[in-house]
Amino acid sequence: MLINMTNVLADEGKFLETECEIEMDLFESSLGDFPILRKEPLIFRASNVSPGKAQYHGTMTLELQLACDRCLREVSKLFELNFSGVISAPEKDDEEHENSEFMEGYSFNIESLVSNEVLMNWPMKVLCSNDCKGICMKCGKDLNSGMCECDTFVPDPRMAMIKDIFNANNKEV
Ligand SMILES: [Zn+2]
Ligand SMILES: [Zn+2]
Repeated sequence: MLINMTNVLADEGKFLETECEIEMDLFESSLGDFPILRKEPLIFRASNVSPGKAQYHGTMTLELQLACDRCLREVSKLFELNFSGVISAPEKDDEEHENSEFMEGYSFNIESLVSNEVLMNWPMKVLCSNDCKGICMKCGKDLNSGMCECDTFVPDPRMAMIKDIFNANNKEV
């Protein structure tokens, strides 16, 4: 979805306010694809600061379905985006090199801006709960719903070596 910025970029005092809905239902990124559970319209405002230059501000709320890092259960995560920046008309950009990466000619690309903002707000850790027990490395059981029958004892490799030497010595005697 593109917002035409021609007018607001042209003249001093020009103002633009718009509400728009992003089209995507799936958040596709380098981190993977995540279903969008809920999205509220983006409220976008821009005002001219000088000929060929405008300041923008936007807010948007969306909820994505992520997976718990430990047990892979579905976790819904709310993103409350709040962003702002300055853009300039393409001909101005050549002089000042400050144009936003979200501009396509005189249009603002909302989808790529929102995608970028979501990644900037991505949680360091996604957990279904702080004391999530994760899944068993052996049988894959979700340990939040009870312990499994697996023998999770991992023998110390150093102890195993001493045992071998001990056994070898015993044979010699
Ligand atoms: Zn979990
Ligand atoms: Zn197990």
